[in-house]
Amino acid sequence: MDQTILKVAMAAFFHDIGKFADRETLGVNEQYFRGNADLYLPFRDGRHTHQHSLYTAAFIESLRDQLPVELNSPGWGGEESFINLAACHHKPETPMQWVIAVADRVSSGWDRDMFESPGAQDSAPRDYQKVRLVPIFEQVAIKADSGFDSLESFRYCYPLSAVSPDGIFPVLRKDAAETDAKGAKNAYRKLFDEFIEGLGTLRHRDLDVALWFEHFDSLMMTFTSSIPAARAGKVVPDVSLYDHSRITAALAAAIYGFHAQNGTVTTEAINGYADKKFLVINGAFRGIQKFLFGGFSNTAKYRSKILRGRSFSISLLTELAADMLCREIGLPFSSVILNAAGKFTILAPNTQGTKAAVQGVSRKINDWLIHSTLGEIIITFSSTEACCNDFVSGRFPKLWDEIVQSMVEKKFESLDLERHSGAISGYLDRFVNEPDHSPVCSICGKRASSREARNSGYVKNVRSICGLCRDHVFLGTSLVRENYLVVIPADIGTHTGDGELFEPIFGSYQVFFSKKGEEDSIEELVRKHRVFKYWALSAEPHSLSKAGVTVKLISGYVPKYAPEDLNDPRILSNIEGDEGQEIEAGVPKTLNHIACMALNVDGDGKAWGVEALGILKADVDHLGVLMACGLKEDRFTISRLATFSRQLNNYFAFYLPHLLRSEERFHDVYTVFAGGDDLFLIGPWNRTVELAMKINETFNAYVCCNPEVHLSAGISINKPHTPIDAMAEAAETALESSKNTGRNRFTLFGETAEWKTVKRLASVRRSFEEWLDTGLVSRVFFHRLNEFIRMAALERQFVGRTEIHLSEMACTKWRSFLAYAVERNVGKGLKGDDRKKAAATVLMELTAWLMEYEGKLKIPVWSIMYDRR
Ligand SMILES: [Zn+2]
Repeated sequence: MDQTILKVAMAAFFHDIGKFADRETLGVNEQYFRGNADLYLPFRDGRHTHQHSLYTAAFIESLRDQLPVELNSPGWGGEESFINLAACHHKPETPMQWVIAVADRVSSGWDRDMFESPGAQDSAPRDYQKVRLVPIFEQVAIKADSGFDSLESFRYCYPLSAVSPDGIFPVLRKDAAETDAKGAKNAYRKLFDEFIEGLGTLRHRDLDVALWFEHFDSLMMTFTSSIPAARAGKVVPDVSLYDHSRITAALAAAIYGFHAQNGTVTTEAINGYADKKFLVINGAFRGIQKFLFGGFSNTAKYRSKILRGRSFSISLLTELAADMLCREIGLPFSSVILNAAGKFTILAPNTQGTKAAVQGVSRKINDWLIHSTLGEIIITFSSTEACCNDFVSGRFPKLWDEIVQSMVEKKFESLDLERHSGAISGYLDRFVNEPDHSPVCSICGKRASSREARNSGYVKNVRSICGLCRDHVFLGTSLVRENYLVVIPADIGTHTGDGELFEPIFGSYQVFFSKKGEEDSIEELVRKHRVFKYWALSAEPHSLSKAGVTVKLISGYVPKYAPEDLNDPRILSNIEGDEGQEIEAGVPKTLNHIACMALNVDGDGKAWGVEALGILKADVDHLGVLMACGLKEDRFTISRLATFSRQLNNYFAFYLPHLLRSEERFHDVYTVFAGGDDLFLIGPWNRTVELAMKINETFNAYVCCNPEVHLSAGISINKPHTPIDAMAEAAETALESSKNTGRNRFTLFGETAEWKTVKRLASVRRSFEEWLDTGLVSRVFFHRLNEFIRMAALERQFVGRTEIHLSEMACTKWRSFLAYAVERNVGKGLKGDDRKKAAATVLMELTAWLMEYEGKLKIPVWSIMYDRR
């Protein structure tokens, strides 16, 4: 990587770090201040303003031992010192310093004049440490102008803390705002101390500054996501310091790259707001669903491992496609500004080199995908040119619209037909037909099996398997055992034989899981700059700040056998017919056993209920619209978009796995994927129903109870031996049902209801259970309710119809049938008036429920029937 571009990106990323710590924390004495103020700070009305930039300089100097040596080495990446690049952004004097200054303004959505205007910046040293970050979720609104022009209009804010499952939820401002300056100062101090502790544990500092930068980014994400980027003046503090820094870094790298390529690194050119300096590139994978769920042949072998491995490999493909493009253009990872769920956005310099890189990478990746997945998944790239003015507030919505439009157009173009049309060359030659070798992979049933893969580690006892399926089993097995993933160039050669991919990703990336004791040999590779990525995969909250490397929240949550499961009658009675794997503590549970956990057991080991899986699919409603027009035109900036997108992803990729891990009733729910704005989970059917309710409740809290931000969800209930694609399709149908009837809804047993109705139905269920438990109604009678539900639902369909057939009229008699049935069957254990009274109550309630809920009453009734069978 070009060291100057890396330096520019890092300096831009560091530019506001002085907002994190105050003067005392950094030990800035009078002498240091006087010696540096004129260098870094503007002087206005008789005093120095924007003091945070001087603290940025103090941070870089005073923590030099904890930072890569390059940051304090004169001459690294060109003449300009790193410290001056980072800290002169309010008093830029050289063209290079202007690169950062302009990036800072554009990141904030400011044009050239707004920047130095009084009040726009933290000129007044008011109690900025008391100001808390306020949520974007509270202010987004599609329907009407929601106001939110000043801090005072917000009811919610985020606590000042490191990213944690609790800390990412908004709290009421009246409860959270620091009232005294001392408390506010201490809160910052505490956070900064924890950050410094994490900084000390970051690895590869002296070995590879580019790799360290990515680790440092994770640390900054953890500690500066709740710090407002702007805290004074009239600015609404809803952009985090982290997102502001990240976007500034991407803009600065692109601006510098553009001018360096064109030989125009001059103050005047850099300040040009009208030149199309940027190319906003979107990459999107297509065909993910089919790739994930299709191609499970009849064998159940390795089913959950394959599913996990495929899902994980989609994350890998996305990350590494973005990485490949950045490397090809010559940009650091920080130029990837959005990245979730199979899509990413890169901010690049608008040069011929960039355009050629997009073309080359697109070709290389698609060639590989077509060869390796037989074209099931492909990647499409689209790009949009932009100038600084396009990012200025008020204008960004138009740019964003163009970006989205360009993606949509590409969706239909999809492939380079010249290149990829017709039969896949050499396809048939891949199938080897020999006596001891079956030509087709027994797992996917599609691709040619590989002789090399058969009987290799991870897939013992498989007659035939293709390289890709073998790799998915390898990934699916390893990612629940190991926590550190290393990505290296594929041409380095075999690292550990079985412990790596048989088919390196895009032919370029090899991955392996780092085990204890291997650190030294990996460090050697890092020293030679041959390690592309070093990721910690665990989303365990306590390890976020102590990971020491880049944290990637892509492994979700996987249920494993606990020691007590090995004596659980539900599992013991179902050992046979499973995926043929060992059952021991710490090993992931099979889908069969996850289904078994839906059964209820008593102390004697007697089990009842229905063993079935619940496939839960959910996503955020109207996300595209929320992103495009949820914010008022003049408030919609690239930094807010990044904050919004990251915060949304945090709910699915960070909070949700934590919820599954931490609440016992959800321990058996498996994340197939969760990130971006959607989720796909598999669990014991009854637990997934509870979980759907819990997700709706917590998501609602997460978005500040904003009525315009909501989820739709659907569950399909399947026997565990159902083919994966059929399960996925059924869950998709359930979700579609929620979407098609107005969104903000939940579908179960084919019935769709609004969330608030689902909540009321839960209390209906409790009444039913009480009636059954006390013997007020018999099971036989309870089962007959299905008939009344059917009739009531049918009757409702006639409302508004002008013509009704006589033969259809029968359903309208449900009231009298119900009255008769209640009289005969309810309260059999009671006598005289007691019985009459009880029957009257039951009849009244049932009639009311049937009229109100009709078919939706199936949700509580069927849940009980399944649970008590
Ligand atoms: Zn296969």
